[in-house]
Amino acid sequence: MSEQTLADRIESMPLVDHHMHSVLQRGVSKLEFEQLLTESAEPPPTGTTHLDSQVGFALRRHCAPLLGLEPFASVSEYLERRDQLGHEEVARRLLRSAGVSTSLVDTGTVGGESELATNAEFELLASHQTFEIARLESLAETLLLSSTPDENFPQAFRDILLTTSGLVVGYKSIIAYRYGFDFTPERPSDEEVIEAVRTLNADGRTRLSHPDVLRFILWAGVDTGLPVQLHVGYGDADLNLSRCNPALLMPWLRLLTKDNSPIMLLHCYPFQREAGYLAQVFSRVYFDLGLGINYSGAASSAIIREGLELAPFTKLLYSSDAWGLPELHALGARLWRSGLTSALLEFVNRGEWCEADAVRVAALVCTENARRVYGLDVTR
Ligand SMILES: [Zn+2]
Repeated sequence: MSEQTLADRIESMPLVDHHMHSVLQRGVSKLEFEQLLTESAEPPPTGTTHLDSQVGFALRRHCAPLLGLEPFASVSEYLERRDQLGHEEVARRLLRSAGVSTSLVDTGTVGGESELATNAEFELLASHQTFEIARLESLAETLLLSSTPDENFPQAFRDILLTTSGLVVGYKSIIAYRYGFDFTPERPSDEEVIEAVRTLNADGRTRLSHPDVLRFILWAGVDTGLPVQLHVGYGDADLNLSRCNPALLMPWLRLLTKDNSPIMLLHCYPFQREAGYLAQVFSRVYFDLGLGINYSGAASSAIIREGLELAPFTKLLYSSDAWGLPELHALGARLWRSGLTSALLEFVNRGEWCEADAVRVAALVCTENARRVYGLDVTR
């Protein structure tokens, strides 16, 4: 097998994107386009642009040709072409370029969901199948807004998970955003949860941030046995990064048993090495490099290489964490394939790995790990 053959094999491998969001079903202004390509909620300083960045350069390099432009076309040329083609055609071209066979869609609320393509619409645009990941906090917030008496909250929430567990392939927790990973690890009693729900309701708060309720819904999630995704590390400025280091989860991870869910650490940047360590020492822990890949563009190969350090190769998965713009779905896949190819070729060229093993590892991290952990091949 030649170098080119290894690259070609990775290029043609179908991906399972195990954590992503849908695309906007409308055109966007230049300002909005820029804001959708950064985790910052703030406009760029006057006279500058968010697109003078790795993701901006990756967009011009890789997405421009997919819209029929020269690589490195200017941002204004790109946006003009985008408008000419219309958002649906742009989405079709970019989504289909990714070579994804299956996407697991996080349908939780972050704002603006009503403008996103439904899963059925997304499947038509992308020409591949989707499964749903339900967000624990969104389910709990819906329950808090209902007329369910406070004292019924714990059982009502468990019942919701029982009902939804047949409809989704996993759950997602954003306890990183709402509190941090330094929560009390033990399972709270129903009495503690009811007390906390009373406090939340008395304050009229619909944004769930009480640590006892957050850890209760997390425990209820891992009791389902379905994979539970946790946002880890980098995200928008709504989180405190120092409290999103996954090493803080160790006291909680030690309490999980074989009947609890696989724990899927998402994104992890800049803590991908901590995540790899946790994936080695805890059999239930898996991880991906999601969001960190898109936003580090040409530098993402170094992050992917770090993802291949400590963790067994059966523990790393692919995700794009794309939201809103199909450019992020396309770039996530493009950069993942390139970074993975360069890391694996390095190992083979140094004579440390054989090519057959490199292909086998690529298949694991691109597709097979996700299919196995989420049970995607089980007839539904
Ligand atoms: Zn996400």
